[in-house]
Amino acid sequence: MKFVSTRGGEIEASLSEAIAAGVAPDGGLYMPESLPRLDPDDFSGISELSGTAAVALAPFFEGDGLSGHLAAICEEALDLPLPVKPLASGHDHVIELFHGPTAAFKDFGARFLASTLRRLRGGGRTMTIVVATSGDTGAAVAAAFHRLEGFRVVILYPDGRVAPRQEHQLGCFGDNVRAVRVAGTFDDCQRLVRTALADAELQARVPLGSANSISLGRLLPQVAYYVHVAVRFWSDRHEELNLVVPTGNLGNATAAVIARSIGAPIGRIVLSTNANDVLPRFFRGAEYAPAETLATLANAMDVGAPSNFERLMWLYGGPGMLRAALDADAVSDAEIEATIRERFARLGEIHCPHTATAVHVLEKLRAEGATGEWGVVATAHPAKFDSIVEPLIGRSVEVPPQLAAMLAREAHATPMRADYGELRELLTGSRGAWKSG
Ligand SMILES: *Cc1c(COP(=O)(O)O)cnc(C)c1O
Repeated sequence: MKFVSTRGGEIEASLSEAIAAGVAPDGGLYMPESLPRLDPDDFSGISELSGTAAVALAPFFEGDGLSGHLAAICEEALDLPLPVKPLASGHDHVIELFHGPTAAFKDFGARFLASTLRRLRGGGRTMTIVVATSGDTGAAVAAAFHRLEGFRVVILYPDGRVAPRQEHQLGCFGDNVRAVRVAGTFDDCQRLVRTALADAELQARVPLGSANSISLGRLLPQVAYYVHVAVRFWSDRHEELNLVVPTGNLGNATAAVIARSIGAPIGRIVLSTNANDVLPRFFRGAEYAPAETLATLANAMDVGAPSNFERLMWLYGGPGMLRAALDADAVSDAEIEATIRERFARLGEIHCPHTATAVHVLEKLRAEGATGEWGVVATAHPAKFDSIVEPLIGRSVEVPPQLAAMLAREAHATPMRADYGELRELLTGSRGAWKSG
């Protein structure tokens, strides 16, 4: 399988090249040149996600140096629980993607990426993974690369704009992981990382790797979990599963779309966003118009210019076909709060603010007469967002053991101005030593 750029430059990369590079040389995103076609029967007798992933991802790995490692990568990286539970109505379900080490779905992608990059690096020079995060990505990447020989991780996050427990997670690793709190916004952090990744002179001294949400190494395992969930559902009930996916940068939803395109029995896919409503406007017929990011209660979805939009446009060949394939709806902070409060009071369910956007959108769809089996995608554990959830439900949320262990460790972050010179000094080691936190 060859990978091409969404910007159409004369670019052809192998899977290994595409994963190592992150972004295509013309600034586009990598996509497979053609999509394979799977059949639910290809997965008969498979019960674990790692098994599904090895089959579903094999066509993407075909002909690549990593293909002989695919099964091992899947076993190593995707050995995470993936429960699908019933919700209030008998035809609504919740797909819990938050049972990994950092309690958000980003663990699947980050672990798969670490597992592939470890094999790609071989015995070469130490690689520094530099990543900007609005909260969950950074912790997942830190957990996946923590104490992995040959790697360092530098995480940039906007000071004061992540939830307290998210921040604690980012700073609790130490060793080869360094958390940097930037006096600026998430967009500033992203700009600093992009500048570093494009700085050839810096990279000659300090080899850098990217782990942002456009990396194929994160997208592919997400495709695999949708295939797994939909195929299992199909084999149990002979029904397609319709999905509501909480959406920010569109990585998770793009994975669901690709899973459906390669034959997973998925029906409708509806995106739920927070007040950052660039996508709902587009799907209602407006031009695609990236906007300034608004801060909301669902902070991991605070994105004004979803980077994977380019992949969807490429896949569907234009706005008309894309609008026919998906829907999207925006959910305000007040609606997020009401959903969290009411679902607990009425049904005893506890949802994180991101998941609550999807629950709210599904409630609306049902009220409008949507039929069939629906699953909301639960992207994070509510205990990660205790400062928002607990006042709304009036009790504490039980903390899962892996999160409790991280919260018990001391956390440390390096302050930095939103200034590329400072980041460069930090990456070259001329500013402050690496220390364990
Ligand atoms: C990252 C994240 C999202 C948004 O996912 P995208 O792939 O960026 O659309 C939603 N919820 C949580 C909890 C997240 O961490």
